[in-house]
Amino acid sequence: MNIEEFSTNVVSRLKSNLPEGREFIALHEPTFEGNEWNYLKECLDSGWVSSVGKYVDLFEQKVSAFTGTNHAVAVMNGTAALHICLKLADVQQQDEVLVPSLTFVATANAISYCGAIPHFVDISHQTLGLDPYVLSDYLESISEIRSGACYNKKTGRRIKAVVPMHTFGHSVDLDPLVILCEKYGLELVEDAAESLGSYYKGRHTGSFGRTAAISFNGNKIITTGGGGAIVTNDESIARKAKHLTTTSKIAHPWEYDHDHIGYNYRMPNINAALGCAQLEKLPELLHKKRDLAARYHIAFADMDGIQVFREPDFSSSNYWLNTLILDRKYAAARDIILNDSNKNGIMTRPVWKLLHKLSIYEHCPKMNTPVADDLEKRIINIPSSANCL
Ligand SMILES: *Cc1c(COP(=O)(O)O)cnc(C)c1O
Repeated sequence: MNIEEFSTNVVSRLKSNLPEGREFIALHEPTFEGNEWNYLKECLDSGWVSSVGKYVDLFEQKVSAFTGTNHAVAVMNGTAALHICLKLADVQQQDEVLVPSLTFVATANAISYCGAIPHFVDISHQTLGLDPYVLSDYLESISEIRSGACYNKKTGRRIKAVVPMHTFGHSVDLDPLVILCEKYGLELVEDAAESLGSYYKGRHTGSFGRTAAISFNGNKIITTGGGGAIVTNDESIARKAKHLTTTSKIAHPWEYDHDHIGYNYRMPNINAALGCAQLEKLPELLHKKRDLAARYHIAFADMDGIQVFREPDFSSSNYWLNTLILDRKYAAARDIILNDSNKNGIMTRPVWKLLHKLSIYEHCPKMNTPVADDLEKRIINIPSSANCL
């Protein structure tokens, strides 16, 4: 097959596996089929729409219960959640933080907000996320341990933390990463923005690090309009997270006393109300999304030159975004497929530009990233909403 025939074949298979008669099919859109209207109406009727109200507490309880973590702190978006996670990992100015080059820009931005420096690492073909084995070899060669802390021998800076990201909902290989973090004294902060409902060896992603950030943006697996959460098993960290995200005000009936330069990051009640309704439907949603992934798998199974990315053996994925991976010989088809599908009302996207190639991050330290460089050219995300089933 030549590149044109191949591309036409991909788009026609996509089309025939998606609902008919729709003018436009989004990459990922939310569904509101439960108690959303009821809970939102209750907020409006009661007047509790902003920073006080029962839904924030309720949402936090439900998120921690669902993720199997002891505590959740709701905030206004996933980026803010990551920022606070890094603060609570004691990431300081001029520290380096290890982060995959293939992730959404917010992962690195949150590091920059702390005055720290992202240090980019490669990913694994198996998970599309950070590769702990490659990272282990790399740290062996570039770092040294001094009085219990890890230092970059080249830059002299402390390497304080690692932020793995569970790409498109597929879990990173966490066991070896946890061991690596212990060996080098690195804080593990999970960017679980995309992985609500994804499990590693039966345990929810985001429960392996000291803290993790989840996103409830409109395009994520469930939404609060905009929103995020910090999850942790550590009670004192949870208390600090709440304090820091609510302007660090010391509780008092009337006095305004603040003991840190805190943030106004809390999630409003109206967003939490939406989140409570969405969470009730999450198990059903996950079923549908996994069914859709299975359908795509079958649809492309007999086609040469293309794979539908499947969850790694150790993971049960929410399949937030389904992913086509073109064989190298068909990499040139990527842009033709993107062009044809989007023109035909089927929203598809390439993966993010690798962060070490962005002008804002090109000066940052990095390892060689052959896997990310290779995959970047061959990935296409395809419509993945539950309502595509
Ligand atoms: C969505 C996302 C974020 C940020 O979440 P927001 O709620 O949009 O701020 C961070 N990291 C990754 C990998 C994401 O996909």
